[in-house]
Amino acid sequence: LRFPISPSSPPPFTRLRLTSLRTMASHIVGYPRMGPKRELKFALESFWDGKSSAEDLQKVSKDLRSSIWKQMAEAGIKYIPSNTFSYYDQVLDTTAMIGAVPPRYGWKGGEIGFDVYFSMARGNASVPAMEMTKWFDTNYHYIVPELGPDVKFSYASHKAVDEYKEAKALGVDTVPVLVGPVSYLLLSKPAKGVDKNFSLLSLLDKIIPVYKQVVSDLKSAGATWIQFDEPKLVMDLEAHELKAFTLAYSELETSLFGLNVLIETYFADVPAEAYSVLTSLKGITGFGFDLVRGAKTIDLIKGGFPSGKYLFAGVVDGRNIWANDLAASLEVLHSIEGIVGKDKLVVSSSCSLLHTAVDLVNETKLDKEIKSWLAFAAQKVLEVNALAKELSGHKDQPFFSANATALASRKSSPRVTNQSVQIAAAALKGSDRRRPTTVSARLAAQQKKLNLPSLPTTTIGSFPQTMDLRRVRREYKAKKISEDDYVKAIKEEINKVVKIQEELDIDVLVHGEPERNDMVEYFGEQLSGFAFTANGWVQSYGSRCVKPPIIYGDVSRPKAMTVFWSSTAQSMTKRPMKGMLTGPVTILNWSFVRNDQPRHETCYQIALAIKDEVEDLEKAGINVIQIDEAALREGLPLRKLEHAFYLDWAVHSFRITNCGVQDTTQIHTHMCYSNFNDIILSIINMDADVITIENSRSDEKLLSVFREGVKYGAGIGPGVYDIHSPRIPSTEEIADRVRKMLAVLESHVLWVNPDCGLKTRKYDEVKPALSNMVAAAKLLRAEL
Ligand code: GLN
Ligand code: ZN
Repeated sequence: LRFPISPSSPPPFTRLRLTSLRTMASHIVGYPRMGPKRELKFALESFWDGKSSAEDLQKVSKDLRSSIWKQMAEAGIKYIPSNTFSYYDQVLDTTAMIGAVPPRYGWKGGEIGFDVYFSMARGNASVPAMEMTKWFDTNYHYIVPELGPDVKFSYASHKAVDEYKEAKALGVDTVPVLVGPVSYLLLSKPAKGVDKNFSLLSLLDKIIPVYKQVVSDLKSAGATWIQFDEPKLVMDLEAHELKAFTLAYSELETSLFGLNVLIETYFADVPAEAYSVLTSLKGITGFGFDLVRGAKTIDLIKGGFPSGKYLFAGVVDGRNIWANDLAASLEVLHSIEGIVGKDKLVVSSSCSLLHTAVDLVNETKLDKEIKSWLAFAAQKVLEVNALAKELSGHKDQPFFSANATALASRKSSPRVTNQSVQIAAAALKGSDRRRPTTVSARLAAQQKKLNLPSLPTTTIGSFPQTMDLRRVRREYKAKKISEDDYVKAIKEEINKVVKIQEELDIDVLVHGEPERNDMVEYFGEQLSGFAFTANGWVQSYGSRCVKPPIIYGDVSRPKAMTVFWSSTAQSMTKRPMKGMLTGPVTILNWSFVRNDQPRHETCYQIALAIKDEVEDLEKAGINVIQIDEAALREGLPLRKLEHAFYLDWAVHSFRITNCGVQDTTQIHTHMCYSNFNDIILSIINMDADVITIENSRSDEKLLSVFREGVKYGAGIGPGVYDIHSPRIPSTEEIADRVRKMLAVLESHVLWVNPDCGLKTRKYDEVKPALSNMVAAAKLLRAEL
C-alpha cells in the first residue's frame, strides 16, 4: 500500500524540543488505529460504500497517524512505533508486504493497492474473503495467511517504509514495526488444496529475502531501530519451532547490521526455553517482554539477561483500561535495573495499545471518581513516559501524587467493595456446586411437565431487530418517549414474535430479546459494579469495534432483570417460553475486568447475581431457562498448562447459576462455536440439560465427539442452518443435515434449532427459513 506524502507536509513540529527530552528511555509497542471517535471506521465504511474516494480515506488515515506520532513525541516517548497503523489488519499488511496474495484475488504483481487488499480482507462480488481468526486471546481478529509450497513471495507493499518516511517528514523518527517472520508463518495455515501437514516453517527461506529487502529499504530511509513482533514466543512451542527463530534471525543478521533490533513479545510470560533461545539470538539489540501478564518472565530476567542488551519492560497494561499502579511498576523496574543496567532499561507498554480504548478525554459523562481510576491508550503513553522520567531522575511529582490519590480512592471506595457479595463469593471457594440429580433423571421430570415432541424445535433467542425497534430503544434511552410508551412498544414486539412462532409451530418459544441491544451490556447496565463509556471502543476486526463495559466493583443484582419481560411473554402463550440470560463467563470475557482481584472471583460474583435471576425466573413460572455462554471458549488461556484451572472455575461459575433450580426446570446453554473437541469434557461438566451449538460447517466429527465423550445424555441442538448468511435453506437440505446428525446421535437427545440468534437477519429471511426448519423436523419425526 502506498500513500503519497505530499510535498507540502507541515514543518517538523517537534524536532528541536525533542532532543532534550529524548534521553529518557520509553517505548510504546503499538497504538490503536481507529481514532478517538472511530474516525477510521467511518472513513473505511464510507469508502467501501462508494461514498468517498480513496484519497478521502488516505487523508483521514494520514491525519490519524500524524496526530498519534505527534502526541507520543510531545509526551516525550523515545521509541515511537510506526507501521502499527493498518487499513484492516497488521497480519494482512504483512501478507501484502511479502506478496503472498492467494491466486483467487487475481493480483498481477506490482504494488498491492486497495482493490486487492480489501478483497482479501472482505471478499468481493465474486470471491469470498480470507479466513479471519482471533489474535491470541484478545478480541482482535486477524486475516489468516494461506500459504503453500508454490507461493511466490515478492516485496509488494512498501507500507512500512512509507510510514517511516511519513513520520520522518513530520519530524518524528520512529521505530518501524514488522510482524516477525516466524510468528507470521506460525499464524498462517496451509492454503486450500495444500497438504494439511505442510510445514509452514519450510517457507522461512523464501520469505526472509523479502524481509531483507524491507530492512534495507528502512535502513536507507534512515531508520536506526526496527521492531519485530514475535508474540508466538509466549506459546507452547515445539523444539523445531523454537529453532526457526534462531534460523530466521541468523539469516537476517547481516542485513540487520548497523541497525538496532528489538524483538517484542507479549500476552504472557516467555517460557524458559523460549527465553533462552530468544536472548541468545545474534544481532539483536533489545528484547521486549510483557511484565503484566508475564510476571514469571521477571524471574527469568533475574536469572540472567545478556549483557549490553536493552530490556523493553512492558509494565503498563495494554489489555486493560486501569490506571497503572506507578509505585508498583517502579518497584518492578528498580528490581531489574541492576541486572540490565540503567541505560539499557526501557519502560514500555505490555503489548500494543490496540487492545485498549483510545482516549479518556472524551469520556465527559463518566463518573469523576471512576474516571480517575482509568487510563486509556493516550493516558498510558503518559504513564510510560512518567515512569521513564522517574528512572532517569526526573520524577514528575504531581503526576505521581495524582496517581497515588486515584489508586487510594479506588482501594477504599465503598462503590468497589460490597461486603455481603465478598462473603457469598468467598464461600464458593473450594466448593463444587451442582444440581444433585443426573441429567437423565432431570430430563425425564422435565418431559412430564413440558410434554415436547421428539426432535423439539426452538430458536436461540433474538429475533430480527428492525430499524423501528432500534429507534424505540434509542428514544427511550434518550428519554424522548415515556416508560409506558416504551413498555407498550416492546410488548407489541414480543407479541408479534410469539404469534410468529406459534404460527410456525415451534415447540419452545423465545421472546425475541427486543429490549436488548447487546447481550452483555443489557445485564451490565442492571448490575451494580459496572460502568459504561461513551467512546471506549476497541477494534475487533476491520472496521468493527466493541465497547466493553468496565467491571470496577463487586457485582450484585439490585433487582430482577428479565423476569418482567419473560413472564409477560409467557403470559401470551401456552407453549413453554425460554427465559434468556447471558452467562457469567461470557459477561466476564466481554468486559474490561477489574485487576484488583483474580478474574475467577469476579466471575463467581457475576454467577451469584445470575443465580438470583435464574431462581426468580423459576418462581415466576418460567420452566425453561437458557444461559448463554457464547464466550466461554475464548477465555481459554494461551498456554495448555493453564487450561485446567480456567475451565474449572469457568464451568463451576456456570453451574453455580443453576444449581438451585428444581429438576423440572430445564436449563439450556448456547455456545457460538463448534470447535471444542479439546474442551468437550468441560462442556459436559457444565451439566446443562440442553446445549445448543454452532454447527454451520456440519461437522459430523463434532457430533461423534459428543457421542463418544462420555455418555452425555443431555439434549443437544447442533445448529441446522447458518444464520450468518441471508440464504434460505430448503426443507430437504435441513432434513438431510438432521439425518446426518441422527446417524451419530440418538433421536431422543436431538433438538432442531438454528446456529445462533436471528437478530442480524431480516424477517423475510427468518420466516421461510424457520418454516422449512419446522417442516424438516416434522418430516423426520414421521421417519423415526
Ligand atoms: N441469545 C442470544 C441471541 O440469540 C445469543 C447470541 C450469541 O450467542 N451470540 O442473540
Ligand atoms: Zn450464538
